[in-house]
Amino acid sequence: MDFKGAVSRRTFVGGLAAALSYVSWQSENSLAQGRRGGPPQGQAPGAGRGASNVPVTKLSNNENPYGPSEAVKKAMADAFKYAHLYGTPDNGLMEALVKLHGVQRENMLLGCGSGEILQLAGTAFVIGNQKKVVGVEPTYNDVFSQATSIKAESYRVPLLRDYRQDIPAMIKAVKNNYRDVGMVYLCNPNNPTGLIVTKQEVRQLLDGVPEDIPVLIDEAYHHFVEDPNYETAIPYVLEGRPVIVARTFSKIAGLAAMRLGYGVARPDLLARMRTYQTGSQSVAVRFGAAAALADTASQERVKRLNTELRTKVTTELKSLGYDCIPSDANFFMVHVKREVQGVIQDFRQKNISVGRPFPPMTQHLRVSIGTPEEMDKFMVAFKEIFVNKTSAAGGAA
Ligand code: PLP
Repeated sequence: MDFKGAVSRRTFVGGLAAALSYVSWQSENSLAQGRRGGPPQGQAPGAGRGASNVPVTKLSNNENPYGPSEAVKKAMADAFKYAHLYGTPDNGLMEALVKLHGVQRENMLLGCGSGEILQLAGTAFVIGNQKKVVGVEPTYNDVFSQATSIKAESYRVPLLRDYRQDIPAMIKAVKNNYRDVGMVYLCNPNNPTGLIVTKQEVRQLLDGVPEDIPVLIDEAYHHFVEDPNYETAIPYVLEGRPVIVARTFSKIAGLAAMRLGYGVARPDLLARMRTYQTGSQSVAVRFGAAAALADTASQERVKRLNTELRTKVTTELKSLGYDCIPSDANFFMVHVKREVQGVIQDFRQKNISVGRPFPPMTQHLRVSIGTPEEMDKFMVAFKEIFVNKTSAAGGAA
């Protein structure tokens, strides 16, 4: 199971990464925002499909560029012997999760990605109740777009001037609209900024909102955080608070296309969410996830590489005069001092896909952390677009 024993650093960073760093636009479109199979938010259906065989450096969807470790791939292959059976074993996944978080089985709900957990919570507490969701803007949009698609409204709170989430304003929005609010959504660290909400602020939020309002805390990027002021909200579940913590195997474990996430919450809240769940998870991903939990060396390596590269790239960008928001995730935002839509096109012309626009932060570009080679390419392209201006910068927008 030990990652170090299974693959050398060179193989890890080089071989698999090289294979994964070139993905066609076609596959990007179908993998991105996986469960819906549609194009990433803000991208037209079919964008780039004409160039389906053009290699692209993909820094747009906050994936793990190294993919699953050898131990995880082996576990998934082992699972095939159960492919024809319903009710197959899970390779100890549930037991491992319960142990990891110090919770009971009844506190756990597996989903096809954490996206399914967000959707189940949105359906159970917002849409099913004809209520509204409170959260900041910009943040991960799933719950809000789900509400919008059925014409339900949400209460969106702007970020503070330093791009942190405004906890007192969120509490105020809940209290002022108490009768209408079905749920609060907090993404920690936030996507797209990468900024954490401190453990004191999480407590402030939970103490501040009425205790019958569920708070969904999305910890998709938990594993990348270095800041000691951050803490998971899972202990609040054990206190009996109305908190649903969402986690995913898509990021640190590199299993985005395999689709596995989970929610940790009070059994009564999970029971309401479960009512709307229709499917279950494949035996392959359950085996892979169990192996990923055991393969802590691999997780540490991914985190360390991510932090090193993020520091290197953001330091270089700052030295060129471009401010970066301090991120604790596997992506960061750089202030590009002009509208980001044209910048996205400029990168696309260089076969690099970067994050979509996140209004109202329309001059900030979100960049996912790829492999060292991919980040070198990003920096070369950035300098061409912004510093040397050898490209058709701005003209392609
Ligand atoms: N939450 C956040 C903040 C995300 O950024 C994402 C995906 O990028 C998800 C949830 C959904 O991830 P998945 O459904 O792959 O677990």
